[in-house]
Amino acid sequence: MAKRFGGKVALITGAGSGIGEAIAKRLAAEGAGVVLADIDGDGLDRVRADIDSAGGAVRTQHLDVSDASAHQAVVRFAEEKFGALHLAVNNAGIGGPSAPVGEYPLEGWHQVMNVNLNGVFYGLREQIPALLRAGGGAIVNMSSILGSVGFANASAYVSAKHALVGLTKAAAMEYADKGVRVNAVGPAFIDTPLLSNNLPPEALAGIAAMHPVKRLGRPEEVAALTCFLLADEASFITGSYHLVDGAYCAQ
Ligand code: NAP
Repeated sequence: MAKRFGGKVALITGAGSGIGEAIAKRLAAEGAGVVLADIDGDGLDRVRADIDSAGGAVRTQHLDVSDASAHQAVVRFAEEKFGALHLAVNNAGIGGPSAPVGEYPLEGWHQVMNVNLNGVFYGLREQIPALLRAGGGAIVNMSSILGSVGFANASAYVSAKHALVGLTKAAAMEYADKGVRVNAVGPAFIDTPLLSNNLPPEALAGIAAMHPVKRLGRPEEVAALTCFLLADEASFITGSYHLVDGAYCAQ
């Protein structure tokens, strides 16, 4: 595989599982030094070992993205260990409770907002200055198809993922002439523990059937798009939202 990211340093949140894991592995395989950040220590250890044994340059940091004060330490860690930070993927996210708006638990609403939206804002506040210090770079924020369409019983998730698209556009405009690109990715339903730990196989089959391609997506398919957006070949792409959805939103 070509070393598209040789000499680059990338920070990936939620890198201990699923989509973040696939992105981290692809970035490392293509030459980036990667800092894996996650709330799940076991996941971090597992992914780190995989990247290590494949010959990648990898470090790990515990991070709860909903803790605003924790992001500065992670960015500093990346700069200390690898010399600079050029790329960031704000990927950590949770599903949240399933309930209609009239019955949606307040605590669950705030938890989803704190992780899926505020966590990305807190990250950007530290990552963008670091990218500027490095002379420029690129960021991808992990939204969802639910960043542009609704879904019943998931109002907090849908709201956070829509807001993430707006946050992406605003940040991209502010830094477009300063060498920092910011984009959002919108996956449909992807076969990761986020789905398989929360839904029985028959429910997963029903969700797969909702996609015109009649299957769930794979984490590697989201990683391919994300890495394209992070790469220099995407140099004119910023402030936009990119689906990877098996035609889910085309319906
Ligand atoms: P996943 O397999 O559950 O991986 C997410 C990782 O983030 C887990 O290791 C999780 O740890 C970690 N995490 C959770 N809360 C965190 C926090 N507060 N701080 C730091 N790390 C935290 O999920 P995934 O499917 O790969 O999802 C990754 C992203 O893609 C999310 O933003 C999700 O909304 C988005 N997405 C997923 C799908 C899908 O169908 N899978 C579709 C569209 C968008 P724990 O396991 O300990 O919680």
